[in-house]
Amino acid sequence: MEIATVSGYALSSPIDPVQDRLFHGGTRRLHKRDVVLVVVETRDGTRGFATAGASSSAMREYFEGDSQGTFADVVNDTIADALEGETLEEITDVAALIRDTALPAHLQTEAISALDVALYDIRGKELGAPIYELLAEEYDDEPTTEIPLYASAGMYMEPEGYADQAAVIEDAGFFGYKYRPGIGPEGDRQTVELLAERLSETEFMLDVHTWWKLGEAYGEDVVRDLVEHAADSGAYWVEEPVEPTDREGYRRLAETGAPLAGGESEETPASLVELGETGSVAFLQGDVRHHEGFTGCLPAIESCRGRDVEFVPHNFGTWVGLIANAHLVAAAPEVRLLEYPVFENDPLIDAEPDPGMYPFELSFDILEGEPAVSDGRLTVPDGPGLGLEVDLDVIEEYPFTEGPWTEFQYDDE
Ligand SMILES: [Mg+2]
Repeated sequence: MEIATVSGYALSSPIDPVQDRLFHGGTRRLHKRDVVLVVVETRDGTRGFATAGASSSAMREYFEGDSQGTFADVVNDTIADALEGETLEEITDVAALIRDTALPAHLQTEAISALDVALYDIRGKELGAPIYELLAEEYDDEPTTEIPLYASAGMYMEPEGYADQAAVIEDAGFFGYKYRPGIGPEGDRQTVELLAERLSETEFMLDVHTWWKLGEAYGEDVVRDLVEHAADSGAYWVEEPVEPTDREGYRRLAETGAPLAGGESEETPASLVELGETGSVAFLQGDVRHHEGFTGCLPAIESCRGRDVEFVPHNFGTWVGLIANAHLVAAAPEVRLLEYPVFENDPLIDAEPDPGMYPFELSFDILEGEPAVSDGRLTVPDGPGLGLEVDLDVIEEYPFTEGPWTEFQYDDE
């Protein structure tokens, strides 16, 4: 395929009015969600799409001031310069071209991730086949196109609030309910107990993505007690209970026998594989948007084979990212479950009270039509490529706004 143009569009979906969420030791303010839409067009006019955007717990913009606007500039300048006019024999050839640029490693990884997905979209359209079929050629099994979803919702609420939300999620048929604890050791403990009591079929998972506060506000022993308590109470997993780079911390917590999850914050496909091989995590969470696309996630899926580790994609963003990760799940025989982030007014979830975390209208509006979700299961689209239509009107409707999407304020500062 001959690449004609590569474009990045930074978009912002406002959270208006801003929301303040109290956690143990501080307040988190939510302003907006940012997305970068990447569009690749070949010489013959075929278009491929991908989304990039902040969505993992180790988000650089917290620490280094990178914004999504910066990444769109990278796509439009360096990446476009490196790729436009190039003819690629294989999709994987794009990685070498991007690695030849002078971009820092993390931006190369982010760019390869988006380009790999967009080029798979193009290749699928050229061949008239859904991406999962292209990927499944690696495996002997038939693709599984009906996928159970777990709902990723609750953030910093009262214990009863989480429990009410979980009940709504169970009614909607989801496999699991994942929430963000961090309201203080006593409240976190109470939440686990309420969930264990309230849920019958639906599993619950803790996403302790608040690791940067736990170190100080909770302390190592309290974290260990909470992890053990959650596991003893039947939690399906405990995600990112310590800082993602703290391999020793993961190892010590795994010794308790608690099922741990992690991976979204790994900076490269190689370190994702390495985390899976430590034996500390029971669930490995790669993401086509972070780990160099389908190409980058396949080695991690492969490395889980024959180990006690299940690959469950991390997925937190728009419906485009959902569908992209869904193709991976459909293709790989041992991968079966997918994360479904729940935002306010989700057209696919008819429930009261609204279980959405906050408004993120762009996550729905970016698609023409809706994904096929019913009773907590997604049917992966079988059209060519990703099998979706991006609504390019969002480029006008969701102009990028400067500034961080979220800010943390600590009580002791
Ligand atoms: Mg997470």
